[in-house]
This record gives sequence, C-alpha cells and structure tokens, in this order.
Amino acid sequence: MAELRALIVVLGDQLDLDAAAFDDFDGGVDAVWMAEVAEEATHVWSSKPRTAMFLAAMRHFALALQAKGRPLNYTRLDAPDNAGSLDAQLQADIRRLKPSRLVMTEPGDWRVLQAIKAVAERSGLPLQIHEDRHFFSSIRDFAAHAKGRKSLRMAYFYREQRQRHGVLMQGGEPVGGRWNFDADNREAFGATGPGAVPPRTEFAPDAVTREVIALVDSHFARHPGRLDSFAWPVTRAQALQALHNFIRDRLPLFGRYQDAMWPGDPWLYHAHLSAALNLKLLNPREVVAAAEAAHREGHAPLASVEGFIRQILGWREYVRGVYWTQMPAYLERNALAAQQDLPAWFWTGDTDMACLADALAQTLAHGYANHIQRLMVTGLYALMLGVQPKQVHAWYLAVYVDAVAWVELPNTLGMSQYADGGVMGSKPYIATGKYIQRMSPHCKGCRYDPAQRSGDSACPFTTLYWDFLMRHEAVLAKNPRMALQVKNLARLSDVQKQAVDERAAAIRGGEVGVAVASGGALGSEPHG
Ligand SMILES: Cc1cc2nc3c(=O)[nH]c(=O)nc-3n(C[C@H](O)[C@H](O)[C@H](O)COP(=O)(O)OP(=O)(O)OC[C@H]3O[C@@H](n4cnc5c(N)ncnc54)[C@H](O)[C@@H]3O)c2cc1C
Ligand code: SF4
Repeated sequence: MAELRALIVVLGDQLDLDAAAFDDFDGGVDAVWMAEVAEEATHVWSSKPRTAMFLAAMRHFALALQAKGRPLNYTRLDAPDNAGSLDAQLQADIRRLKPSRLVMTEPGDWRVLQAIKAVAERSGLPLQIHEDRHFFSSIRDFAAHAKGRKSLRMAYFYREQRQRHGVLMQGGEPVGGRWNFDADNREAFGATGPGAVPPRTEFAPDAVTREVIALVDSHFARHPGRLDSFAWPVTRAQALQALHNFIRDRLPLFGRYQDAMWPGDPWLYHAHLSAALNLKLLNPREVVAAAEAAHREGHAPLASVEGFIRQILGWREYVRGVYWTQMPAYLERNALAAQQDLPAWFWTGDTDMACLADALAQTLAHGYANHIQRLMVTGLYALMLGVQPKQVHAWYLAVYVDAVAWVELPNTLGMSQYADGGVMGSKPYIATGKYIQRMSPHCKGCRYDPAQRSGDSACPFTTLYWDFLMRHEAVLAKNPRMALQVKNLARLSDVQKQAVDERAAAIRGGEVGVAVASGGALGSEPHG
C-alpha cells in the first residue's frame, strides 16, 4: 500500500526551492528525495572541485528544504547502505518509502533521464516530469525554432529570444540599433597587462562545505584537481552576492576583455556564475534583469551588457535546445573521424606549452577556466590534434564545476570540436599559435615559437593548424568560410608539407609538448 503520495526527485543540479516539481508539494503527504552517489563522480573521472561543488551545494539545499519544513530523504555519500548509483538508490528508497508516484523537474542529462524512467517502469510507478521553467525557453520552443532548419545558428535563435522576452528591446527594435556588439568586444590587455582587476568573490567554506571537502579528498583521493582554494558560492544567498559583485565590479569591462587571456588569472572580467546558474542557485531572469538595469542606470556600456546577455539568453538556452533536440545520436557524432587519444597530461597539467600549462593548472586548481581558454586553448588543441570527441567530452564533463551534460556536450562536441559536422558552427574554429600570441603574453614565456610551423622550436598549435588543413583539405575546400585558409595550403611546397607532417607525428607520439612530471601534485594518471 502506498505510504507517500509523491516522492519528489531532486538532482544535484536542481537546487531551486521554486522548481516546478514542488508546485503541488504538500509536506503532509509528499517527501523529497536526494542522494549523493559515487557513480555521478566516476562515470566520468570527475575532478575534486566539481564533485565538491555539487555535494556542498546539495547539502546546503537540504538545509534549506528542512528550514521550509519539506520532509526529505537524503542519502549521504558515506552512508553505510549507499547503493552507489542514482537508479539503485532510488529503487531501494521506493521499496522503503512506498510512494504512489515519482515527480521531478526535467533533468539536465539524457543518461539520468533514462535511468530514472527505467526505475519508474521497474517499480510500476507513474513518473511525472515537469517542464523546467528555470530557462527562458522550453525544449518545445526550441524544437519549433529548429523545425525545418538544416543548421541551427545561435544568432537567429538569440534574436527570437530578445523579441519574445523583450530583453534589450525598444519599440520593437534592439536597443542601440544592433543585435550584436561583438565587434567591439575583441580587445587584448596590451603590454602593461590587465592592471587592477577586481578580486574574485570568494566564499570561505563553512562547516558543511569543509566536511564535504574532507569527504571528497578521502573518497576520491586519486581524482584530478585540488580543493585547497575552493571558494565557490554554494547557497542561493552566496550566489546572489556573487551576482551583485559581478554587476558592480566586472560587467562594465566584461565585453571589452571577453576574449583576452592573462597568465595566472583565469577570472579577469568574467562572471564566474555558470556553476551557480547550472545548479539553479540563480535564475537566468534575475541575472539578465540585473545586467539590463546596469545599462539603464548608466553603470555599464551597451556592448558589455549585450555581450553578457547574449551568453545567457542566447548561448546558454541555445546549447540546451541543441542538446535535447539532438540526443542521443549527438553523443556519437565524429564528423572529422578523429581517433587520437587525449594526452594524459590534460589530467595533470604536465605540459611545457605555456598557454596550455596555465589553462590546465587553473582548471585543476579551481575547476574553472574562462571561455576563451576552453575554446581557444584546450579545445583548439584537442581539435587540431584530432582527439576522439567522446574523450574530449569526458574530460570537459569531468573537470569544470559548471559541467552538466546539456551545456557541456554541445559546447565541446559542436562548438569546439566540430564533431557534429556543422549543426552548431558553420566551420571548425582553428588557429595557429599566433592567435594565442595576439590575445595573451603566453608565448613570450614559452619554449616554442608561434611563428614556426616545423622544426624543434615550432609551436605545436601552429604545426597542428597546418596539419589539420592538410588532413581535412578535401572536406574543408567545400566550405566557403574555409576557402581562404585552405587556399593558403597551396603556398606550401612538398618539402614544407613533409616537415609539418613529421613534426605533427612527433607531437602525436608524445615526443613534443610533454613536461617532466611534476610528481602528480595536481592529480594522477587517468583511470582505465
Ligand atoms: C569546450 C567547452 C566546454 C564548455 N563546457 C561548459 C560547461 O560544462 N558548463 C557551462 O556552464 N559552460 C560551459 N562552456 C561555456 C563557457 O565556457 C562557460 O559557461 C564559462 O566559461 C563559464 O564561466 P563564467 O561564468 O565566468 O562565464 P562568462 O564568460 O562570464 O559568461 C557569463 C555566463 O554566460 C553563460 N555562457 C557563456 N558562454 C556560454 C556557452 N558557450 N554556453 C552556455 N552558456 C554560456 C554561462 O552561464 C556564464 O556563466 C564550455 C565552453 C567550451 C568552449
Ligand atoms: S608558443 Fe604556442 S604553445 Fe607556446 S604559449 Fe604560444 S601558442 Fe602556446
């Protein structure tokens, strides 16, 4: 006999007291279900910062639920009877709690959705899935937008979003007369550097977070990354504080320096709000409204505000639409037939390439790298090296505190690796080391030379750029947006091509780019 009316399943990225799953909640007859399970940290080799982010935020959300008087069944990672996976734990708790139905908000991961559907079916229980109103647009809205389109360009979707939600609009026209101010947003810092960038908003771990940090450090000791500088917002109040500080301190220069990099500083003028948003501690409407207000009040220029809003109202919603309309086939896409293994040093940072060493060290220390590091350093290298997209996906999903499948997969597989063959981007993003030289001073401190494509001091990015063009010439030549780059290949003699080929083989063979191991201080070798 049913003892509970509904069991409300709340996942680690659904930490919103106002989520649709709670709409009819009645504490007298319903209960909430949450579980910390090892499988979510091991199905990819989840970094310590990422796992700690999720568990700390979950435990604080459990306290918020209790404060609201919502009955909660919460399984901790170290509980003796922890079943180890979401489906096994849910199955066991259904037997114990005897609900008459399961209720949840749409999850952010196709794999998890299948697992929960299977549990409901095995248990003979109805599963009620509520649309996730956290987002501006629903998956149905996106599917309607996508219908009949061969490729899904963000720009068109973004315009629709601006119009439909009345964001940065005036009398039916975009504020400032343009939809996109990207052309104003491409500056590097110049020789004197970024100057006095406002300090990152840090939250010292409280007792709950400290307990999580100790647990993650012991339970997942061999996982990559470090926890000594963990300072992420893990409650709604902290997330609101982080938002407030971003709007006050960073937004005015966000746009101008969006693509810039500086050694040792991944934070720069970025928002650092992705984890808070993706775990649903923040609502994108309040983030967009705060940015719009900053423009109205004359605090931040339109180019910055539009650039920032485009990331949230445009890119973030667009990649979610791509994920849910393309899965599960999307996960298998490998348009460029890339088969190389991901270099092991991606997990340790042990490379002698200055730009990559910096991006990887920050990734492992904080579970964070900014967008341009993800796209034009780590992603670019993996693309041109020809790494199997699934391995690249597993790395990105593992290492970042903001990584949830719906947002990580399209960014990695589509935007960064072009593995979807053009669903998201009209061409692969490829560049020589000179791009990194333009956007940062990394190359000055590097043993490689971005101007060289072959020879002992050749920058691996530059070698791999030419190698990429040579390997994919036939396919790329058909793409009008790549025509100029492909045409440049004709300037290379056979001897020069041969030299690129040999150097690229040395890079792939691990003879170039690998630093002497640092003793595994940042992590250890990947699991089997
Ligand atoms: C290969 C690759 C993998 C990525 N994986 C993730 C991921 O797992 N999770 C994730 O949230 N973002 C991912 N991104 C997008 C982006 O890099 C991060 O959202 C951003 O770096 C987070 O830092 P921030 O909060 O300081 O962002 P900011 O640069 O300050 O941007 C503001 C906000 O806009 C949103 N945003 C910006 N760019 C994107 C984008 N391309 N897609 C979706 N939302 C965006 C984020 O919510 C972010 O907080 C990935 C990008 C690449 C190229
Ligand atoms: S020379 Fe090449 S590897 Fe070195 S920092 Fe510049 S782009 Fe990176």
